Amino acid sequence: MITLCNGKQYLLYNGYTYNTIGTISKSGHNRYRCIGQSKSKRCNSYLNVDSEFHVHYESEARHNHMPPSFKQINGIYVKVPN
Ligand SMILES: [Zn+2]
Repeated sequence: MITLCNGKQYLLYNGYTYNTIGTISKSGHNRYRCIGQSKSKRCNSYLNVDSEFHVHYESEARHNHMPPSFKQINGIYVKVPN
């Protein structure tokens, strides 16, 4: 998990940021959806993650945008404009 300068917490995976959207009742895993988006369309990529933040499944939907850039300062991540 990373904490952004605005205090929000996101999962950082392969350079993309994800936000939790709920729990999958069957497996108990959490589903995280990519928060990035292109100008016109939101991104459909998501992950299934367990309580220790191990990724168990990555959706086949490709990201439709570039990964966000981050700079880490004292453990806090700051988003850098592309
Ligand atoms: Zn994405």
